[in-house]
Amino acid sequence: MSQKTNIDISDDARLLHLINTEDTHEIEGLFHAARELCSRHYRNAVYFRGLIEFTNYCKNDCYYCGIRKGNQKLDRYRLTLKQILDCCRTGDALGFKTFVLQGGEDPRFTDERMVEIISAIRKEYPDTAITLSIGERSRESYEALFKAGANRYLLRHETACGNHYRSLHPGAMSLSERKQCLYALKDIGYQVGTGFMVGSPFQTPETLLEDLRFLREFAPHMVGIGPFIPQADTPFGVYPQGPLTLTLKMVALSRLILPKALIPATTALGTISPDGRERALLAGANVVMPNLSPIDARQKYALYDNKICTGDEAAKCRFCIERRIKSHGLVPDMSRGDYQD
Ligand code: SAH
Repeated sequence: MSQKTNIDISDDARLLHLINTEDTHEIEGLFHAARELCSRHYRNAVYFRGLIEFTNYCKNDCYYCGIRKGNQKLDRYRLTLKQILDCCRTGDALGFKTFVLQGGEDPRFTDERMVEIISAIRKEYPDTAITLSIGERSRESYEALFKAGANRYLLRHETACGNHYRSLHPGAMSLSERKQCLYALKDIGYQVGTGFMVGSPFQTPETLLEDLRFLREFAPHMVGIGPFIPQADTPFGVYPQGPLTLTLKMVALSRLILPKALIPATTALGTISPDGRERALLAGANVVMPNLSPIDARQKYALYDNKICTGDEAAKCRFCIERRIKSHGLVPDMSRGDYQD
């Protein structure tokens, strides 16, 4: 039971009620409780991660994702090791102490290649956290990358309902494999992030409840939540985007379930609403992920349409987000921001 709010997050009926409620007073109370709980553990700090989108090649065909294999219209790119290190140098000069390497599941980035990249970053930046977000790999692969110096791994479960998962992905992919990866990552010693889209096609309040139950069971260190946003060249291009308030409610409920989690105010939230990220911070999020990718790669890393910040220099992103944080009395924190046990 959360002390100040009497929101009993162990009660599934209560969670389902909060997922469904349209009572603005109740919703505001939920956001407030989540922010309070966050501040109790992390004060008003908001941590920075520098995002490097290093490849938009992908062997998967997820129905919602703009960089899916089947999207023939996408202009594909891969960054070289030198380009990745240049992004890190820019990030380091701007004060970042975490780099997040994200990409599609690109077979060219073999274990050997990833070890080479991670080792090079680790050598130049011994104290900087290295986060990977490169999809499903074998346990051996995750072990090799951890040994090379990676510290954290983001792998959203996307939906914790098996049937729903099958309606978002081709038959070759399964929720159980996704979960196996997550458990392996945790077991190896990574700080692990999972999460889900809100408002994806065929989602229901019950599947969202499953998502929260999975968070409770798996207890990740990080939780990434953003609205589904259609990308025109995908099979889901005609579906509506996920609702803002529901996404914020899921951020707040995740905070109540996992008081110490690191929860980003995602770019997708900033895409569906000009102040979406600030509102997430006020509903329990405590991480931002400004983009460090080269400008000409930004547009091509088109997970969904109308993605924000695709034309901005890294420094502009960094300081724009800092301004947004400060305007709400929160405090930008450039330290590594590790999960605090
Ligand atoms: N290949 C990596 C990274 C995927 S992209 C992996 O599998 O983890 C990162 C996240 O973007 C995905 O996990 C998904 O939740 C989100 N995403 C993809 N397409 C999206 C869309 N159309 N709308 C909103 N979020 C999307």
